[in-house]
Amino acid sequence: MSEQQLECFVFSGPPGSGKGTVAQQCVQNLGWLQLSTGDLCRKHIAEGTEIGKQIDFAIKSGKLVDDALIIDMVAQWIQEHKNSGKTIIFDGFPRTVVQAQLFIQLIEKKLTWIKLVVIDFKIDDAVVIQRLSSRRICSNKQCQAVYSVASGSQKRPMIEGKCDFCGASLIQRLDDVSATVEKRLQVYHQHADLVLDFYKQSGVKINSINADQPIDIAFKAVVAVKELQ
Ligand code: AMP
Repeated sequence: MSEQQLECFVFSGPPGSGKGTVAQQCVQNLGWLQLSTGDLCRKHIAEGTEIGKQIDFAIKSGKLVDDALIIDMVAQWIQEHKNSGKTIIFDGFPRTVVQAQLFIQLIEKKLTWIKLVVIDFKIDDAVVIQRLSSRRICSNKQCQAVYSVASGSQKRPMIEGKCDFCGASLIQRLDDVSATVEKRLQVYHQHADLVLDFYKQSGVKINSINADQPIDIAFKAVVAVKELQ
């Protein structure tokens, strides 16, 4: 009996491109599964597994975890979830070209029932800088509603500096100040552009969607890519 094909979506896009929010919508509205390699690393550490012991130091010092260990964790997680038959979204993976290469090799040799689908959330850096540096979040940890102080934005709060839902003050995340955003974008391009180039060279189709539009439209664009599979 041939094994059922499982689609694994790689969402590529800079911070502020909306890919995280679209991923949440795919989980909530379509029942997809989301694999965050950051969460997976933290789970291994919390459970004290062999892998957890090996990656503890890298995580605590903010370095990237060894590529082969990440692939082992991802492969194990996929095996545990493959019977769900649900589409999977990768969050934070692959982070390096080596991870992208190793994962394709794994699909070719072992996980032959996986169909890799790459979506690139395209948006100009200038738009991201404007988006993130105008972003404000509710300081109430239970609320965390997101606003924009950009002029003309539909997400402006009704009362300046206050959350519409709970009235708490709005704050700017430390990493949303424009100099930090520029640095985050630089780091993103350093790795992500190489990973996308690698996919192109390997003949993996890159489905580009315009991320400079409202989230529900970007979500619909992802659904359209899914329907093409
Ligand atoms: P995140 O939650 O995605 O910000 O990841 C938190 C930490 O987990 C990162 O700083 C890395 O140490 C590690 N990590 C998560 N995903 C990867 C990955 N794909 N490759 C290497 N390290 C990762």
